[in-house]
Amino acid sequence: MADTLRFDNRVIIVTGAGSGLGRAYALEFARRGGKIVVNDLGVSRVGEGSSARVADNVVDEIRKLGGTAVANYDSVEFGEKIVKAAIDAFGRIDVIINNAGILRDVSFGKMTDNDWDLIMRVHLGGAFSLTKAAWLKMREQKFGRIINTSSGSGIYGNFGQANYSTAKYGLHGFTLTLAKEGEKNNIRVNTIVPNAASRMTEDILTPDLLRLLTPERVVPLVVYLCHESCQQTGNLYEVAGGFIATMRWQRSPGLYGGENIRAEDIKRRWAEANNYTGNVDYPQAHTDTLQKVMGIIEAEKARP
Ligand code: NAD
Repeated sequence: MADTLRFDNRVIIVTGAGSGLGRAYALEFARRGGKIVVNDLGVSRVGEGSSARVADNVVDEIRKLGGTAVANYDSVEFGEKIVKAAIDAFGRIDVIINNAGILRDVSFGKMTDNDWDLIMRVHLGGAFSLTKAAWLKMREQKFGRIINTSSGSGIYGNFGQANYSTAKYGLHGFTLTLAKEGEKNNIRVNTIVPNAASRMTEDILTPDLLRLLTPERVVPLVVYLCHESCQQTGNLYEVAGGFIATMRWQRSPGLYGGENIRAEDIKRRWAEANNYTGNVDYPQAHTDTLQKVMGIIEAEKARP
């Protein structure tokens, strides 16, 4: 079709591309002409073991489709090795899909240092390490598209996932800052919050949901966000079953307690701080907050 979004001559690294969402991204980018680095350490859902087979299988699938791909078996903690694999095979990097992930679910009282550290190392550390290793190249070539994978657990919290939700929320902070830093060099960075059937969700979602929430219904958003024609940056998208919606910060009108603000005043007026009706706004930068506060203080001063 004439409007097909193509990725010819683009080099795309997909982490955790051996199964689930990552595999679906890798196959689709390859169908659209991209050269794919299929990264996967081949670990269990909780990050144990390792196997080259899962990445190799996806590379085989891509080649059978007539596409171009190489396998990489390094952990995402070692981003430089993954970037080297891309450069050695294809000479450049255009797109990074930070997708690899594991779970160490346990209630916070029982969470060990290892449960915490491993999740930080894979999700946050992995996205940092790989993106950092490619960042200067993307800046020099004035093109880059990066997707960070968050989770409903990250943006809403979830019982038993203090480690995972912290890392997943952190990934959007990573997106927000890189979007600002990458803007002038045409590096666009966005976060997705997917829901899809995979081994991560096979025992959480009902069979009906598993049937509807295929990874293939998440893929098109990622394809579009990573295309050269898409200038969107710094946003977060919920995506599931073909539904896509962005989300943003909303600030309540708030209360102003003046220069002699007291805890007792706050108690009395607590509903005002927490009420989302009336003059709400949608701040996008720290400076928006400072401007707002200064405006309120100046307006109070000017009152007769
Ligand atoms: P999945 O378990 O099918 O795939 C994850 C892949 O990552 C596996 O193949 C695994 O071997 C690989 N991996 C794990 N640790 C790695 C490491 N250190 N280095 C390289 N590869 C590694 O899971 P999925 O459901 O496809 O999840 C993909 C991403 O989406 C994850 O980040 C997950 O947290 C996130 N996510 C998924 C859902 C969902 O509904 N499936 C919801 C929210 C977030």
